[in-house]
Amino acid sequence: MNCIFCNIIKKEIPATIIKETDDIIVIKDINPKAPIHYLIIPKKHIDTVQDLTDEDQQLAGSMLLMAKQLHQDLDNGGFRLHINSGKDVGQIVPHLHIHFLAGSLPPIDL
Ligand code: 5GP
Ligand code: ZN
Repeated sequence: MNCIFCNIIKKEIPATIIKETDDIIVIKDINPKAPIHYLIIPKKHIDTVQDLTDEDQQLAGSMLLMAKQLHQDLDNGGFRLHINSGKDVGQIVPHLHIHFLAGSLPPIDL
C-alpha cells in the first residue's frame, strides 16, 4: 500500500510538521483552505472513521484533544474541525485525518 500520509509519517515525503506525539502527527495542509489549515493524522493507518474499532478509543480521543492543544498554542479565536469520511463525500487521502481550520472563519449554518 502506498499511502501519502504513511510516507509523511515515515519522513519519506517532506511536510511542515506542527506537532508530533507517539501516536499523532499534525502537518500543514499543502493546499490550505483557511489562514490556518492543519491536518491531525493518527500514525496508525486507519482508512476512515467507519474503520475505527473499540481498540482505537484512546487514539480517537487523543485526536480531539490535539485540536484543543493546537488552539492553545495559537491563542487565536475559534476553530473548525472537519472530517471527510468516504470517497463519495470527497475524501481524497484514504488515511483518517481531521482538518483543523482557524483564522477568522465565517460562521457556517449547518
Ligand atoms: P481529504 O479530502 O482527503 O479530506 O483531504 C486531504 C487533504 O490532504 C487535502 O486538503 C490536501 O490538500 C491534503 N494533502 C494531500 N496531499 C498532501 C501532501 O502531500 N502533503 C500535505 N501536507 N497535504 C496534502
Ligand atoms: Zn496511511
